[in-house]
Amino acid sequence: MNFDQCLDRYAELTVKVALNVQPGETVWINTSLSQPEFVRLVVKKAYEAGAKTVHVEWTDDEVTRLRYKLAPQESFGEYPQWRADAVTEVAAGGGAYLLIESRDPDLLAGTDPARGASFQRAAGAALAKWREYTYTDRATWSIIAAPSVAWAEKVFPELKGDEAVRALWEAIFRATRCDQPDPVGAWKTHNETLQKRVDQLNAKQFKKLHYSAPGTKLTVALPEKHVWSGGNSANAKGNAFNANVPTEEVFVSPHREGTEGYVSSTKPLSYSGNLIENFTITFEKGRIVDFKAEKGYDTLKELIEMDEGSHYLGEAALVPHDSPISNSNLIFLNTLFDENASNHLAIGRAFSSAIEGGENMSQEELAQHGLNNSLTHVDFMIGSAEMDIDGELADGTLEPVFRAGNWAL
Ligand code: ZN
Repeated sequence: MNFDQCLDRYAELTVKVALNVQPGETVWINTSLSQPEFVRLVVKKAYEAGAKTVHVEWTDDEVTRLRYKLAPQESFGEYPQWRADAVTEVAAGGGAYLLIESRDPDLLAGTDPARGASFQRAAGAALAKWREYTYTDRATWSIIAAPSVAWAEKVFPELKGDEAVRALWEAIFRATRCDQPDPVGAWKTHNETLQKRVDQLNAKQFKKLHYSAPGTKLTVALPEKHVWSGGNSANAKGNAFNANVPTEEVFVSPHREGTEGYVSSTKPLSYSGNLIENFTITFEKGRIVDFKAEKGYDTLKELIEMDEGSHYLGEAALVPHDSPISNSNLIFLNTLFDENASNHLAIGRAFSSAIEGGENMSQEELAQHGLNNSLTHVDFMIGSAEMDIDGELADGTLEPVFRAGNWAL
């Protein structure tokens, strides 16, 4: 693998496919200090694609950790309005938002989980307007990743420093198809393949999905006239973008009151700078009524108890076990990758695009159609090679959707 060539292709893929930057657009990049060379490469390619201004918002893990350790409690209940206004202005003006993930997966271990929860709540409220643009895909947004040393050393515990970073870069290149000669072309084909699955599931209109696996016996009802999505989306101007690179999932939102049974996690979840591992959640009439976790129970509790809506599901996503990320046999400890190696569910807000005409409905109308609302939306991984899923058709007959972790449709 020629490293510089792969890095260049990844920056190209970010600008051409993830964001699909158009002449005259503003781009906002939120990134850590870990990979400044890569960020500069993305900025250069964005200007070459015609971007008007590229704003880079730099963050630093150590500065974040210092705040969580030392700032007064009230700091976490506040979110700077100017920051919310800035990203909202970019979205409203037709600009694009890029998050480059590189955070240490348990950066905030040992800090009070209540601080993380208050921050998430304050951020959720302050960013409500911005989320209207991004959750509905009216504004372009995308998440990609670049290694930090701390993250890379957790994914490759046998390697140190630059060697770990290099190994994580190579894993990212493979997961994003940047080890191939023409990633932009490969993603065109990939988006089309996902769209075929979406079309197939939309035609079926299953009223329920029945999941079974060791530790999991779960029924998830889907709303009437639900719409599956996957691959790229179109923004308000009609330009296609990929909100996640990589992405391997097709997804829908469950009916708020229609989840019954229990489900167990199959991969660790890094949430709010803490790892939650080996957890099981029990649902009755859609609501979480019980949960346990071998590790990170307090963090899971803060997540589930964020608001009323965080007691319900907002997403059900299908990813075959036989996918490039899953086949790497790596646990990335980062949801962007791990969710794309595994069937997953999300706690919290549903997608308004998950039912016909949902984009033009008010929050009340979405609720009437069974879609959940919450300040949060957090994916967790439940898939494995032992998972079977049946789809229940309108007349009650069952059809295999997944067998032994892979598509059976
Ligand atoms: Zn998902």
